[in-house]
Amino acid sequence: MTTFPKVTLKSGRDRSVRRFHLWIFSGAIKKIEGGPEDGDTVEVFSNSGEYLATGHFQNGSIMIRIFSFEQTDAGEAFWHSKLNTAINYRKQLGFFDNPGTNIFRLIHGEGDRLPGLIADYYNGVVVLQAHSVGMYRMRSLFSKIITDILNLRVIAIYDKSSSTLNIAGKEAGNNFLYGKADNAIVKEYGNQFEIDFIGGQKTGFFIDQRENRRLLQNYCSGKKVANIFSYTGGFSVYAARGNATLIDSVDASENAIEIARINMNENSGKNTSHRFYCDDAFDFLNNATEKYDVIILDPPAFAKHQNATKNALKAYRRINEMAIRMMASPGILFTFSCSQVISRDDFRIAVFAAAATTGRQVRILHQLTQPPDHPINIYHPEGEYLKGLVLYVE
Ligand code: SAH
Repeated sequence: MTTFPKVTLKSGRDRSVRRFHLWIFSGAIKKIEGGPEDGDTVEVFSNSGEYLATGHFQNGSIMIRIFSFEQTDAGEAFWHSKLNTAINYRKQLGFFDNPGTNIFRLIHGEGDRLPGLIADYYNGVVVLQAHSVGMYRMRSLFSKIITDILNLRVIAIYDKSSSTLNIAGKEAGNNFLYGKADNAIVKEYGNQFEIDFIGGQKTGFFIDQRENRRLLQNYCSGKKVANIFSYTGGFSVYAARGNATLIDSVDASENAIEIARINMNENSGKNTSHRFYCDDAFDFLNNATEKYDVIILDPPAFAKHQNATKNALKAYRRINEMAIRMMASPGILFTFSCSQVISRDDFRIAVFAAAATTGRQVRILHQLTQPPDHPINIYHPEGEYLKGLVLYVE
């Protein structure tokens, strides 16, 4: 068996590993032997010398991302089996034979016990994003394994790690690892979307909002809708499907708005009028005169790190207050946070405080989260990043 560099934990710091948590923080480490470099595989031992786990080493606050709790050579067969488990989970849940929807997340990092690796499936185009050097180094092997497993279902595999890998940024470039493709044309619940996976944000589309977009559709008949932070018009398309009379889509990104126009033209019927605003969301809400019946607030993660949570909560509070203040009565607010470091409770308190400031009466209709192709590993609660509330505002 291959010998890997060895990391020994401080006494008592093995507890979280024994509970299958996937991260080891630098403060838990007593000794590092074998001089591992960023991205190397290491074995983790307790203070008393018992083997605990195998993972990728990377200098930083999270020093080890665990991918196995059993000793392994971490060779091709091992990774094949890991990726197959993630892909099989989607097969079991029916994602591969869903006539109305041909996009879903194929690999969801910690949720699939593959920390640092994300892959989205866009109707045959797979977009990979590595969040760790260890996963990034193995992109070619992953590409081979994914094409092996999915066979004819893959047209192209694109690595898009340059924006997600800070430390190895100098070596991370975006490239096709297999095949080639232009913008993907996909279907989600029968709606057609164009996805610019090369130039767009993240892997190209926010697949994680699929079920929440579908829920919105039920609330839009005859309503005036504002989709704030619309990106490429995901919620707007569903609002049109649900027979909204007016839909305003607002986003700061010109590219996103351009594609939102295309997506709305593809899907929207004659009875809906839509307008597009390339604008700052806060400015738009400040200046808006329309009384919207339905507002969607789906901002980018306001807090990316623990030390930014205070300001982020202020921003969530402010934007929600602005929206609640200007809504029709009754109005429906779909409000979200995708910040991993903001807890469900904290988000709810921020929205609660926003509502209280306006003096309006508010009921919670739904509490929303991420869909099953973005699974939450029960031993890794940090993975529950998407939180949403649907509010009835009187
Ligand atoms: N709801 C979308 C995803 C939204 S992602 C969907 O279903 O696809 C967040 C969006 O907020 C991005 O498109 C980004 O361009 C936009 N954004 C970020 N900061 C903004 C700001 N200050 N004002 C307006 N839009 C902003």
